[in-house]
Amino acid sequence: MENIVNFVQKVSSRSIDELKKRTAIDDIFPQKEDSKYIARRKKLVELLRKKGISSQLVLDAIGKVPRQFFMPESLSELAYEDKPLPIGAGQTISQPFTVAKETEILDIQKNDKVLEIGTGSGYQAAVLLECGCHLFSLERQEVLYNPTKKRLNDLEYKATCLLKDGFEGLIEEAPFDKIMVTAGASEIPNKLLRQLKIGGIMALPFGEGEQKRLYRIRRLSETDFEKMDCGPCAFVPMLKGINRK
Ligand code: SAH
Repeated sequence: MENIVNFVQKVSSRSIDELKKRTAIDDIFPQKEDSKYIARRKKLVELLRKKGISSQLVLDAIGKVPRQFFMPESLSELAYEDKPLPIGAGQTISQPFTVAKETEILDIQKNDKVLEIGTGSGYQAAVLLECGCHLFSLERQEVLYNPTKKRLNDLEYKATCLLKDGFEGLIEEAPFDKIMVTAGASEIPNKLLRQLKIGGIMALPFGEGEQKRLYRIRRLSETDFEKMDCGPCAFVPMLKGINRK
């Protein structure tokens, strides 16, 4: 996918003036990013590598997505800190390490059909798309769903976004190669598990109460699943039903 960052690099290596003559640059590239963010993003990638992320595919994807565009402008100075940040409606954009870890767990292969639960800001969706998959993403809160759908579209990230309760999954598109849940579940999302292909993988933050652990669940057969504990994690809760404005 030709994303916004590649585009900036291409534009800057050609003649910007020449492009400006052809069209107003803001028309073709509405959210040009400041070069300071490119430098900070590189540092973040190195930090994630040091913290144990080893998949080059995932590190490259994080290195391409302009995280500052996925949060309120007032927070953009903090965009490349390895921290979750508020995005409104009581929700957060996940910490970059968590995004990288969950993506690494899924072991994305080119053209995998992936379902994400909890579109939120759209940042995790963008990282998944940069890994080369086809993405369906569900969000239960309309106040987040509407602006995020527009944001992903403006940034040319082609995900199919739907306002839907993730506990139900997306039966009409099942089965999925991979499923990523980006909110902490306190009950097993059985319908979602059944929408996983045999051999498919789900990343699921799960646990009773506040303390969640991140699990990698692989479907072995119609009835058998294998679970691996990938350590403690912090997520906003996975809630039932749709919340309209
Ligand atoms: N992937 C997001 C993380 C956002 S936080 C990002 O990169 O920004 C988790 C999101 O999951 C929130 O937006 C929350 O509203 C949503 N969520 C919680 N329960 C859900 C459910 N049952 N179905 C769909 N979305 C859900």
